[in-house]
Amino acid sequence: MNAYNFYAGPAILPKAVLNKATEACKSFDEFGLSILEISHRGKAIVSVMEKTDKLIRDLLGLSDDYAVLFLTGGASSQFFMSAMNLLKNKAAFVDTGTWSTKSLKEAGQFGEVDIVASSKNDNYTHFPKDYSIAPDTDYLHLTSNNTVCGTQLHSFPDVDVPIVCDMSSDIMSRPIPIEKFGLIYAGAQKNFGPAGTTLVIVRKDLLGKVDRAIPTMLDYQTHVAKNSAFNTPPVFPIYVSMLVCEWLVEQGGLVEMEKKNKEKAALLYTAIDESNSFYGTTALEDRSLMNVTFKLHDEDKTDDFIAFAQDQGCIGLKGHRSVGGCRASIYNAMPREGVVKLVEVIKEFDNK
Ligand SMILES: *Cc1c(COP(=O)(O)O)cnc(C)c1O
Repeated sequence: MNAYNFYAGPAILPKAVLNKATEACKSFDEFGLSILEISHRGKAIVSVMEKTDKLIRDLLGLSDDYAVLFLTGGASSQFFMSAMNLLKNKAAFVDTGTWSTKSLKEAGQFGEVDIVASSKNDNYTHFPKDYSIAPDTDYLHLTSNNTVCGTQLHSFPDVDVPIVCDMSSDIMSRPIPIEKFGLIYAGAQKNFGPAGTTLVIVRKDLLGKVDRAIPTMLDYQTHVAKNSAFNTPPVFPIYVSMLVCEWLVEQGGLVEMEKKNKEKAALLYTAIDESNSFYGTTALEDRSLMNVTFKLHDEDKTDDFIAFAQDQGCIGLKGHRSVGGCRASIYNAMPREGVVKLVEVIKEFDNK
């Protein structure tokens, strides 16, 4: 039986990527040494770093105005690092759930935080879009996809300040209007690679403008100057992310990914909407294409459904502990067959 991985993160990776990564662990360089045991200054790894940088630039259409960094400490470290490096006076935040709440709390240590909109009172079941930004604001922080509650921003706002965006759970799922962004960060382990590295894309002209002292390792300029190799970078997670980028190119790039992601999500949401037992938990226009959140009208049957689905190879459907219910994470690497299987499982359970 095929097992399909619906976990939210760490999450599914393409099989072809896992196979190549396995080989690289056994033998990678010209001497047959493993990728896990060779110097990050050697040419094999320097070449991996350069290739990954180029692939990301090509996929996202980045100009030389932007630096691409591979950092550690997770997306959670970017909550404070982004503010430490960019916040002079005031940052605007749209509070759309767990991750934005954590992010704005950290930013508050470095300046004023202006929560311009929040869907907290509606349990974060929609994505607020009606707000304005005060003129003395340094940047607007958004969480493009809310992994826990299952909402996603489907078009980025036109604002007069750079957007700082946590794209941890939808990076590379679609093309983005890069010129709107000052900084993008994404923990790799949702839609981009394995746990262990965080992708950061930053517009270089925004750096070096704050007065505060920044520890060397927490200053983006350190990593820009040294191409993410100021200290030992997370070599293996970067390599696997490179393989994912190559796979994305083979799939036809981000335009094609978006098309596939829309098709997969539509299949699943339709099955939920047409069922008698299940309902989607978020506003229709803000439904995430990555994390499909749903519940059973009879909540007591939630565990039965999750066990039933697991018996048929659909693994990892339990909702985040803070919201309960079910969540099917259908990132880039989830094949259409996996979603079709889950749709069958939903229909079968519904008919029982
Ligand atoms: C998972 C997640 C995070 C936290 O990532 P870590 O790498 O565990 O720190 C932050 N933001 C979003 C949107 C996430 O999905």
